[in-house]
Amino acid sequence: AHLDRIAEIDGELGAFLHVGADESLAAATAADAAIAAGEAPSALTGVPIALKDVFTTVDAPTTCGSKILEGWMSPYDATVTARLRAAGIPILGKTNMDEFAMGSSTENSAYQVTRNPWDVTRIPGGSGGGSAAALASYQAPLAIGTDTGGSIRQPASVTATVGVKPTYGTVSRYGLVACASSLDQGGPCGRTVLDTALLHEVIAGHDARDSTSINQAIPDVVGAARTGANGDLSGVRIGVVKQLQGEGYQPGVLASFQAACRQLTDLGATIVEVDCPHFSYALGAYYLILPSEVSSNLARFDAMRYGLRVGDDGTHSADEVMALTREAGFGPEVKRRIMIGTYALSSGAYDAFYGQAQKVRTLIARDFAKAYADVDVLISPTTPTTPFKLGEKVDDPLSMYLFDLCTLPVNLAGTAAMSVPSGLSSDDGLPVGLQLMAPAFGDDRLYRIGAAYEA
Ligand code: GLN
Repeated sequence: AHLDRIAEIDGELGAFLHVGADESLAAATAADAAIAAGEAPSALTGVPIALKDVFTTVDAPTTCGSKILEGWMSPYDATVTARLRAAGIPILGKTNMDEFAMGSSTENSAYQVTRNPWDVTRIPGGSGGGSAAALASYQAPLAIGTDTGGSIRQPASVTATVGVKPTYGTVSRYGLVACASSLDQGGPCGRTVLDTALLHEVIAGHDARDSTSINQAIPDVVGAARTGANGDLSGVRIGVVKQLQGEGYQPGVLASFQAACRQLTDLGATIVEVDCPHFSYALGAYYLILPSEVSSNLARFDAMRYGLRVGDDGTHSADEVMALTREAGFGPEVKRRIMIGTYALSSGAYDAFYGQAQKVRTLIARDFAKAYADVDVLISPTTPTTPFKLGEKVDDPLSMYLFDLCTLPVNLAGTAAMSVPSGLSSDDGLPVGLQLMAPAFGDDRLYRIGAAYEA
């Protein structure tokens, strides 16, 4: 049924870069056969999924939305991919994304535009717009994204779906093609909080193949989602971040946020205002740290090891082939960030830019720690505005960066957060998301409160 839906609607929406019809049907048949043979199914056995095209798969190309990896086949599955397969979850295909996960609208994909199912003239968010559009248009009941600065939560917000950025180090990055290694985290996307929790349980857990994977038990997110569904939040303390509202936020987004606060209070929670003074510097710090890591990570695309090779005709040196390949294979946003990062890491600029940004990162983590001494979770709108029109910000990277204002601090601190649907904006009738934030290994709090709010 999902493959039929994809065939019917994805020509218009452009959520998938690759559909594995035969492979996903074979996986579904194998799941049926295992159950028939007496194997106990997991909650998600046979429930298909859409996978962001940044996780490696042995049976489908992995492009990261980039021409430099066009047609590239990985020799191994990412740990997340392997965990999905082991749980009997058929992979429907690979979803569109901003090139190497850099962007907020999926318009930086080298391949195609993805449209928001709520209004096809608008962006589906980014960088994981393909996964969010697939979910919101019922092409897939579950999806996987990655969140480096908001790329799971922000697309969830603008498509009225649920997206979670788990605690850093709890979902393996093995086989997740790196954007910025200290910020990247894979995570689950669904249409309900409970669906998302069931998927979270499948993909999270220690992995010896990822040196930043933390060997500690994952909180009981499924139990928390079930508890939350009873709608009782008495005793829960919630902090509203003063710095994540006000100027630049659409009135309809703020109205939805105020309504969410009232609803959470009605469910028994206590709401207080919390000051996180360094959050105002998150955008500046992020856009130095991320490009720095990008400039280093993307050095591996050297025309020798992976994908595209241009100018290899016997007349060019190896350096020239590398330069020609990177010139042809990377898009403008990727090049922009490699240049910013290379500059920020250069010996003359390092202390003033990269070094300062790392200090700000520590101060942001301390703001969170101080806040969580008083409250269980923090909340804010997920995005300052509803989804903008396709093309509206492509020539204005700075205004594009501002769309991620609310989601960046969590990545800098390595903590956990969720975006849960918060109704439609009174301005334009488009989806609004509520962001819940929790301390490291407090992911279960997101599910309890998210499920209560959703109910
Ligand atoms: N939009 C942000 C960026 O462009 C976040 C991307 C992400 O989370 N992958 O960097």
